[in-house]
Amino acid sequence: MSSRDFVYEKFSYFYSDPSTVIPPPSLLGQRELGFLLFKERIMLRHKVFASIRDLKLFLGEAVPSDVYRSCAYYENPTAEMDKKGWLGADLVFDIDADHIPTSCNKLHDEWTCINSECGFSGKGVTPESCPICGGRKFDIKTWPCELCLESAKQETAKLIDMLEKDFGFSDKEMGVFFSGHRGYHVHVENKAVKTLDAIARKEIVDYISGLGLTISGGKARGRSGKKRASHDFSLHDFGWNKRLKLGLQVFLLNATKEDLKNAGIKGKAAAAFENKELILKRCVEEGRWDSIKDVGIGTWKKIAEYVMDLESAKIDTVVTTDTHRLIRMNGTLHGKTGLKKVEFPARSLEDFDPFKEAVAFKEGEVKVIVSDAPEFRLGGNLFGPYKRKTVELPTAAAILLICKGRAEVAS
Ligand SMILES: [Zn+2]
Ligand SMILES: [Zn+2]
Repeated sequence: MSSRDFVYEKFSYFYSDPSTVIPPPSLLGQRELGFLLFKERIMLRHKVFASIRDLKLFLGEAVPSDVYRSCAYYENPTAEMDKKGWLGADLVFDIDADHIPTSCNKLHDEWTCINSECGFSGKGVTPESCPICGGRKFDIKTWPCELCLESAKQETAKLIDMLEKDFGFSDKEMGVFFSGHRGYHVHVENKAVKTLDAIARKEIVDYISGLGLTISGGKARGRSGKKRASHDFSLHDFGWNKRLKLGLQVFLLNATKEDLKNAGIKGKAAAAFENKELILKRCVEEGRWDSIKDVGIGTWKKIAEYVMDLESAKIDTVVTTDTHRLIRMNGTLHGKTGLKKVEFPARSLEDFDPFKEAVAFKEGEVKVIVSDAPEFRLGGNLFGPYKRKTVELPTAAAILLICKGRAEVAS
């Protein structure tokens, strides 16, 4: 049996199994659904299903590798794009390891320019365009690595914190999901966000990313007309200002010389930071920012910029601003891993284990020939690393390797 037929068969069992539960999104009948078909490798779009039962019957027959649904609601989801009658859309966020510069990506991610005359390749994050030929299409080999998913989780935690504290969304209005591959999704369903247009959504994206945040003080001049330095830098106690203040405290308490250097702080200013406690008390707590010799307003602005980058959440900005976006459906399989997209409560983010909770195939074993795989953990077991090796693996591990193009079923 070919590897593709093997995966197809397993996906088919999954969708035909009466015990498989696919939680319906709200207002299913107003959503556009899309499917990537296994065999034809084409995208079927503009579908609508009145009930989850009808959808499951369809999934059992069509066996797509990936199932998507619109973030938007439409009068007529099956119509062409400009005739659908857009009624609104959830506010969605996508956090993917692809957009986070982790230190391990150079170990497990590879890209190759698909321009046949070029074929240039590299390791780590895929560039926007090929440095040799300028081409924009690549063959990309990534891995759902534990460290990468841990960084994605930290970005998700920052995002959720902002959505809760700065925007005031409740636990009930936010859905948090593991994407089934290398990241997390957060959906906000709330009357106030439903009809926001792309520009308004971009404003929210900018806020989350800290884009356009100017770090400066208020009323600049004193009585003499002379600029008062301490007014050139100040932080109040809500929104981003509060985030910066708390972030500054954490950063300064833990900063090594190397961290300060990375933030652009050198020489006398760096030396002055040896006395952390005094600086934290006088400057950060009491707001007397220019009260320490050698630590001027310029220094604070530099550190604040650096901390802003640490405190912002690295979201995929395109996903949130697209009001017609299709996003993977909860409870369905990811074609690149065979793992499920799963929802969990925001408050259990820290303890959530994607390599346990998202496993869909829990029975059987299969012999595969692995070309190359790093060490990985799945369903409570540790596997690999493998290099040109024939091994018998639990179905879920075998499917993950096959879907990632790293193994074939042994005949
Ligand atoms: Zn190229
Ligand atoms: Zn990694």
